[in-house]
Amino acid sequence: MKVSIDLDACVGCGLCEGDCPEVFEMDGDKAKTKMSEVPPALQKSCKTAAENCPQEAIKITE
Ligand code: SF4
Repeated sequence: MKVSIDLDACVGCGLCEGDCPEVFEMDGDKAKTKMSEVPPALQKSCKTAAENCPQEAIKITE
């Protein structure tokens, strides 16, 4: 599973970092991913972060 963030859509709310700090962290006024390939143990919380992103800025591909 791969994850990326649409930085044009991200508003820097920080929710993703709260849901899945292993994958997401804030970088100034935007979020960034710490990895592009998400290991199985983190996929559930990563998907939760994507579902909760108010901007639908988190893109997940299998
Ligand atoms: S939850 Fe979405 S809008 Fe908020 S910081 Fe993360 S990627 Fe950006």
